[in-house]
Amino acid sequence: MERERIAVAEQSNFQTHNWKKKANGEPDEWGFESGNHNGFYCIDCSDYYCKHCNETVEKCEGKV
Ligand SMILES: [Zn+2]
Ligand SMILES: [Zn+2]
Repeated sequence: MERERIAVAEQSNFQTHNWKKKANGEPDEWGFESGNHNGFYCIDCSDYYCKHCNETVEKCEGKV
């Protein structure tokens, strides 16, 4: 069954991040996990996107 998806992966800023990847090369929506929160984690800017809380993705600021 298909749950309602947030179209975060379709936002243009999504592509600017170097998301932690799953083995199959897709961005890992369990890149970070904390309690009831989980989502994508960028290994460049250390930003993360919680699929439960965040609706928009900021542009990647690159490596610190
Ligand atoms: Zn980033
Ligand atoms: Zn959250």
